[in-house]
Amino acid sequence: MNYISTRGAGIGERHTFSDILLTGLAQDGGLYLPAQYPQVSDDELARWRTLSYAELAFEVLAKFCDDIPADDLRELTRRTYRADVYCNVRPGEQAADITPLTQLGVENGAPLALLALSNGPTLAFKDMAMQLLGNLFEYALARHGQTLNILGATSGDTGSAAEYAMRGKAGVSVFMLSPHRKMSAFQTAQMYSLQEPNIVNIAIEGVFDDCQDIVKAVSNDHAFKAKHHIGTVNSINWARVVAQVVYYFKGYFAATRSNDERVSFTVPSGNFGNVCAGHIARMMGLPIEKLVVATNENDVLDEFFRTGVYRVRGAAQTYHTSSPSMDISKASNFERFVFDLLGRDPARVLQLFREVEQKGGFDLAASGDFARVRQFGFVSGSSNHTDRLAAIRDVFERYGLMIDTHTADGLKVAREHLEPGVPMIVLETAQPLKFGETIREALGREPERPAAFAGLEALPQRFDVLPAEATCVKDFIAAHTGL
Ligand SMILES: *Cc1c(COP(=O)(O)O)cnc(C)c1O
Repeated sequence: MNYISTRGAGIGERHTFSDILLTGLAQDGGLYLPAQYPQVSDDELARWRTLSYAELAFEVLAKFCDDIPADDLRELTRRTYRADVYCNVRPGEQAADITPLTQLGVENGAPLALLALSNGPTLAFKDMAMQLLGNLFEYALARHGQTLNILGATSGDTGSAAEYAMRGKAGVSVFMLSPHRKMSAFQTAQMYSLQEPNIVNIAIEGVFDDCQDIVKAVSNDHAFKAKHHIGTVNSINWARVVAQVVYYFKGYFAATRSNDERVSFTVPSGNFGNVCAGHIARMMGLPIEKLVVATNENDVLDEFFRTGVYRVRGAAQTYHTSSPSMDISKASNFERFVFDLLGRDPARVLQLFREVEQKGGFDLAASGDFARVRQFGFVSGSSNHTDRLAAIRDVFERYGLMIDTHTADGLKVAREHLEPGVPMIVLETAQPLKFGETIREALGREPERPAAFAGLEALPQRFDVLPAEATCVKDFIAAHTGL
């Protein structure tokens, strides 16, 4: 499998999965994609139907990571997708399913179901890919005798998934910046209670934007970055995207009886990483009818899929919402889909994303390309705080299930795209415990708390406080890496 950049640099060069595992953007600023999508045959699809999650993950990933010896890859997927890691199930769910499917009921003739992607250690779907990344990084670094220091900024969600994936892993350390005293008690406890020496929490005396600015400043110091082996694990990382392809297959098998059926998925979306994996599953031949992109008030993607206009938002137009993990100003994985939409023409992708940099967006409404959006199965919708509260209440009253705010956005939009006889699977991307305030507002009660989280806020916490200065952070990293 060869990987290419969406902007075309390095055509003719070879990049294997392992080559791009530890990198983010391609050198030309584009994103990596396979030179061709691997296809799944009818025989394979029939055989995969009964596999365990770990075995299915092996089969899917083997098509993308053919440079990793099969025995090693099988061992990595077995070690990652275990019932004792994805153990935070609700009554009626089986941890061994890893991503259990819960049928809600039939609405407008369409069976409606939730696919739980949030039973991992941090109760959000980022664990699905990040846990694999932790094991892949450890494996790849050991093979090459390298070390890696992951630097990141978080306002709560991604940072904790990265820390729980990398804790105790040989060769990897995590330096995670978070705004001092600005996260919820739960989020703070989740991250700061980790005691592994390779997880370093840095509380910055500032806001989240200060944390992000510091990460950018450090990353722009190429000499420092190289000397201290600094890397990132953001959502454009290809291994994260590809790991997410697996649960579209798993969800399909759980919702159907035979491979002649088609299903639709609704995906609560921010950076387009999750639904990009759905697009790839569809391109591989999984019988997906529609991919429904659900946004919150930050509706960059909904606007594009309705109108053909992609318009990046400024800071003043980027809203803090009650589904905060979808609060984005631009969708960093979107370029991967645009590449396919434009018939994989890197020159046009380069031109369009230059327009994004120069003019803040582009308009495909008049071009023939936009009409092809429907051929790729995409439709969309958006949701707001009132919709979210209503969906949480409705699902609780009608089906006795408590859902989180992001899943509520998904459910609201899914209901706008039901088709009789086509099962609709809504991806459940987080558990309600993380968003207690909105659950109390919607239901007048506390969110459910999985047993493993009892007493989390009372555990001892470990973190360092630093001023919002890039030089202070650099000195701190240098002292800790001993270089
Ligand atoms: C990150 C996240 C999303 C958005 O996923 P993208 O891949 O960025 O589209 C949705 N819901 C939750 C709970 C998340 O953590």
